[in-house]
Amino acid sequence: MEKIVDETLVFGHKNPDTDSIMSSMVMANLENQLGNNARAVRLGNINKETEYVFNYLGIEKPEYIADIEDGQNVILVDHNEATQSADNLANAKVEKVVDHHTMNFVAPYQLYYRAEPVGCTATVLYKMYKEYDVEITKNIATMMLSAIVSDTLLFKSPTCTPEDKVIAEKLAKIAEVDITTYGTALLKAGTDLSEYTPEQIINIDSKLFEKDGKRFKIAQVNTADLDSIFKDKVYFEAAINDEIKKNNLDLYMFAATDILNSNSKIISLGNDSNVVEKAYGVTLDNNTALLENIVSRKKQMLPGILENLG
Ligand code: MG
Ligand code: MG
Ligand code: MG
Repeated sequence: MEKIVDETLVFGHKNPDTDSIMSSMVMANLENQLGNNARAVRLGNINKETEYVFNYLGIEKPEYIADIEDGQNVILVDHNEATQSADNLANAKVEKVVDHHTMNFVAPYQLYYRAEPVGCTATVLYKMYKEYDVEITKNIATMMLSAIVSDTLLFKSPTCTPEDKVIAEKLAKIAEVDITTYGTALLKAGTDLSEYTPEQIINIDSKLFEKDGKRFKIAQVNTADLDSIFKDKVYFEAAINDEIKKNNLDLYMFAATDILNSNSKIISLGNDSNVVEKAYGVTLDNNTALLENIVSRKKQMLPGILENLG
């Protein structure tokens, strides 16, 4: 069937974080400025941290979509793995990918693929705006800055590069905000878990990975108070065991990341739960362990599991 509207949908990963939401909107705007018909959509709920940006700017959220149609033109931002994307991605036409993750993407056709080893998709997008000479408005700058602050934990994550920091400083000038004040408020908004059940908390930011037929999830949540999360440990364990059954997982690691002290405390469950012991040089005590100086899923948590699983 011929499509009536030749529109490209731009989206980030499932369980979207601030970078996925902001970068989809920033990318859609870039496409629009270049004369292309593109629109940002989202594959999941907006978390509290991202909500802070929408409240701050007073702008509309992208529409939620459950899946995409066959033949839909799409642009992926902040992800490239099919397991983290729209279910029907294999039948879509991917026009572009703009990302900062390990590449696990194949398409039997040509496309624009850009991934840089930086801390945030918005950092790459900033450079694209400059290359295309498209204006970065105050709102767009605030959106990009929010994404960088979120992904780099206000520059404290080992994923943060000098380029992320330099660009964030330029964006803060355009956005007319003090980075530390704005960034701290943004991250703090994301640690408010008071309205969520343990089952919801483990799904705010969880990513599914596959290796040699093994399936595992790493879920992460930011907190300023580890104790308040771990007092509900048994409820988290029940929710995690449910997820393991439902999704046929070999391992589920839930990491609560203390953004003040830059540590993460984990709960590890599943048949391969003890992989984390080798991966991080720790001993599980009642399914939990403290990972000192570990805050990044992409750069610190994931590689350890990939090396030791299977
Ligand atoms: Mg992301
Ligand atoms: Mg990102
Ligand atoms: Mg993240």
